[in-house]
Amino acid sequence: MTENLYSLLLPSDPQDDARAALRTETDAVWSYGDLRRTAGRIARLLHETGVIRGDRVAVQVEKSPEALCLYLAVLQLGAVYLPLNTAYTLTELRYFLGDAEPAVFVGPPHSAGEVEALDPSVARKVLTLAPDGGGSLMEACRDLAPWDAVADVTADEVAAILYTSGTTGRPKGAMITHGNLGYTARTLTRLWGVTESDVLLHGLPIFHAHGLFIAINTMLLGRASILFLAKFNADRVVALLPRATLFMGVPTLYTRLLADPHLTPALCRAMRLFTCGSAPLSAETFARFEERTGHRILERYGMTETAIITTNPLEGERVPGTVGYPLPGLEIRVADEAGRAVAPGEVGGLELRGPNVFKGYWRMPEKTAAEFRPDGFFITGDLVSLAPDGRVSIVSRAKDLIISGGYNVYPREVESVLGRIAGVRDAAVIGVPHPDFGEGVMAVVERQPECGALDGAEIVAQAARELAGYKLPKIVVIQDSLPRNAMGKVQKNELRERHKDAFKR
Ligand code: ATP
Ligand code: MG
Repeated sequence: MTENLYSLLLPSDPQDDARAALRTETDAVWSYGDLRRTAGRIARLLHETGVIRGDRVAVQVEKSPEALCLYLAVLQLGAVYLPLNTAYTLTELRYFLGDAEPAVFVGPPHSAGEVEALDPSVARKVLTLAPDGGGSLMEACRDLAPWDAVADVTADEVAAILYTSGTTGRPKGAMITHGNLGYTARTLTRLWGVTESDVLLHGLPIFHAHGLFIAINTMLLGRASILFLAKFNADRVVALLPRATLFMGVPTLYTRLLADPHLTPALCRAMRLFTCGSAPLSAETFARFEERTGHRILERYGMTETAIITTNPLEGERVPGTVGYPLPGLEIRVADEAGRAVAPGEVGGLELRGPNVFKGYWRMPEKTAAEFRPDGFFITGDLVSLAPDGRVSIVSRAKDLIISGGYNVYPREVESVLGRIAGVRDAAVIGVPHPDFGEGVMAVVERQPECGALDGAEIVAQAARELAGYKLPKIVVIQDSLPRNAMGKVQKNELRERHKDAFKR
């Protein structure tokens, strides 16, 4: 029996063939059989192009049913799927392609031409996907007979390379195996109770672990169907909620849904689960969402390198501010920098070992070695605390922890106090070099546009009612928006760089 993820997601089963797998905004329906046939045609074309098991296929395409089939085709061949952010410019593409050396690059017409003009070592072959454009992959495979062999890969073979978000430095290519993805999809389908009656309203990009491995794999394995939004748009999501049972989001998507006046409990009657991850969900957003919809968001935590690590329970209490329990089968420990377990309840680095942990960073052996302990535990870089019942709370990223005058300041604690102040939409608290304290605490505040001017001194005065003096920001910068990436994560590196001289005398 092959351990190819493809065989889990699209097993050849005449009973499933007619079942709707995907529905687009324009109501085009793709059955499981349609996905398999189109993936098979693409697989044959890629095979004829010379793609073999283990080759990278780098993909920078807009979200579409065909894009999903391309992903499945690459799995089927035992090649390595390498999705790239659709926003990347040619300069960024050059870095990723140079690093990954794919056999094929599938890109949008404008960058495909430019990439083709680059050094051929960057990609042996360049294609476009466009379903109806001339010279595209979809056109070239239209009349081909679907390839029906599935590469007989082992669980340990690499299925995909996903670059991390680059929140803390240069993106790293995480090598994720068929076994990693199979475990994650099986476990989540079970823990989240995904069945054939589910309809996932899919508003995430599909070039990240969240939108692809968590959302798509879990739904296909559960034989559910997916309502595919080309791009997130709060109006569209709200309008389509009555047709869905599941929604997976990141905190900024929930904030945007809350800004929509039409969001009501009546619209969410068919919904059974809203999940959130990729970045911390504030207790305020959790509470406001419950008020507006009657639903308690299920927060879970993961990273590119491990897919999901913890989830709040489907049944049972979802505690805001916590990310729930480790998935069954994972071993976790909370450790100091040397890897020694900290006392129960203390804050420490989360380390884990288990079937979801990736194989290493692509062509970065030293980086890989530095992030694994000798006993195989992966160092996540996140600081957490465990409740006596095993529930995990994320306190900070290790790199975001601020040590000011010898005191530890956890930015998230300060951010959540600032976030409750009237007129503040979001806040990023960072540590920057300080002549006396080592690091000084500063806050970059995103204001609510409708609330008029904000005053930094007033913000600090209000925060001082809840926070000890050493945690208070000594400088507050007010902006209309914070720098965020495609998953809505605040780019603290960029902020630290921009404000590195803020405390210079
Ligand atoms: P890089 O590793 O390149 O700096 P990144 O860590 O942001 O980027 P991802 O793998 O996309 O790249 O993100 C994983 C990180 O996101 C986790 O390590 C954690 O810090 C954060 N995260 C994910 N889910 C949650 C959550 N529910 N609450 C708090 N933080 C979360
Ligand atoms: Mg990371």
